Amino acid sequence: MRVLLALGGNAMTNADGRARSEDQISAAEIAMDAVADLVVSGVDVVLTHGNGPQVGNLLVKNELAAAVVPPVPLDWCGAQTQATLGNVLMNALDAALARRDTARPSAALVTRTLVDADDPGFTHPTKPIGRYVSADDALPMIAHGEIWEDRGEKGWRRLVACPEPLEVIDAPAVLALIEAGFVVIANGGGGIPTVRDDAGVLRGVEAVIDKDLGAALLARSVDVDILVVATDVPHAILGYGTPEAAPIGRVTVAQMRDHAAQGHFASGSMGPKVDAACRFVEDTGNTCVITDLASILAAVRGEAGTIVSAN
Ligand code: ADP
Ligand code: MG
Repeated sequence: MRVLLALGGNAMTNADGRARSEDQISAAEIAMDAVADLVVSGVDVVLTHGNGPQVGNLLVKNELAAAVVPPVPLDWCGAQTQATLGNVLMNALDAALARRDTARPSAALVTRTLVDADDPGFTHPTKPIGRYVSADDALPMIAHGEIWEDRGEKGWRRLVACPEPLEVIDAPAVLALIEAGFVVIANGGGGIPTVRDDAGVLRGVEAVIDKDLGAALLARSVDVDILVVATDVPHAILGYGTPEAAPIGRVTVAQMRDHAAQGHFASGSMGPKVDAACRFVEDTGNTCVITDLASILAAVRGEAGTIVSAN
């Protein structure tokens, strides 16, 4: 059995949101402890992960150091965080497997994902990233061609494109590593946003890709049996935050699409997970589970989480 596990932000940062290197290492140790159980149970595991807080930190460095070293573009931030988080996750996984007297080779792959250069996000960016700054601090960046939005009391925030992921360009490499027995960490942050020009040349672009939608695409590209979206809640919930809140257990993809259409899932958080789950199930007929890290082994056995299936 082959499982793709998409790790959310809580797998890589402290519960209070702090992202010092030691926070990220401890969070990865907790996450990889759960993943090691999955590996030991005989499942072929592929991992992907978010990178929002890490890219946010790189952007602050870009801003503060712009007069001294050249700022790096967003696709480079994506590549850097894939490599760094891959390194942290591999160390944590090796240690967790060693505690179980097991060894399994792992590999972290810098992974590009194709997007359309004509995606509407490039002319009308909608995805807020990085920290809030004052109007005075936003102006020089706007002068450099960046798009910033006045978000009222909190200050100004940068908007970038969040294009639809079309193809995991490096999926063949992921597949080769899986087939060679590696636990593969790939497509972090949804993949490095990349466009292909008319001559077929690939080039990174200033954009971010939704991690959950990137995970669904990777899951489809490397033929996984189950996609597990691991976050900080054990279920997707109907009426979230209301007195009628009810966790969703087993559900069909058609029912889940209905719930989404009724606005049960917030657009910046649970919404993309539900969309990713539905896309994967609709495209493959296989199952997707949305749950928390502590439940992933049970989720793979069909005993925990929000289990979205074809029927
Ligand atoms: P991740 O880092 O794993 O992507 P997110 O914060 O983006 O995590 O998404 C998980 C969060 O989604 C939960 O912590 C919860 O606050 C929020 N959320 C919004 N709507 C729902 C819902 N209907 N059911 C469950 N969680 C929801
Ligand atoms: Mg999220």
